[in-house]
Amino acid sequence: MDNCLFCKIISGEIPAHKIYEDDETLAFLDIGPVSEGHTLIIPKEHATDLTAGSEESALAIMQTIKEIAPKITEALGATGYNLGMNNGRDAGQDVFHTHMHLMPRYENDERKFVKSFPDNQFLAQIKSKIAQKLTN
Ligand code: 5GP
Ligand code: ZN
Repeated sequence: MDNCLFCKIISGEIPAHKIYEDDETLAFLDIGPVSEGHTLIIPKEHATDLTAGSEESALAIMQTIKEIAPKITEALGATGYNLGMNNGRDAGQDVFHTHMHLMPRYENDERKFVKSFPDNQFLAQIKSKIAQKLTN
């Protein structure tokens, strides 16, 4: 899709802190994390939301989550994580390319869903901690 932000991240036209990629999926850090290590997992196949996409791509994002969630939590010292998906404008969806939010959680975490605005250097540090686990 020509005008899709996440398709442009897949193609590399727009930079992102990518932490995992395979034939069907891509995972990268959310630019406005609600928790440290907040990651978006997307299918490479463009579809506006879960319902519009194929069954294969829906399964593929869950497989990727199974693979990367324990590594992200271990890398960052998290003790759990939330998964969330906004489907449709009234559900809070802003980017119309299917994506799952993975939000690591920490001891005494207040579990707020409020965006923060870290600088690029901080996101790069988080990405590199996770990358070390994923290459092991
Ligand atoms: P939604 O509200 O559609 O479920 O979530 C979209 C998410 O994409 C938001 O959490 C937002 O912070 C994130 N986001 C928006 N633009 C960018 C971007 O250019 N790069 C990255 N990495 N994340 C983005
Ligand atoms: Zn797209």
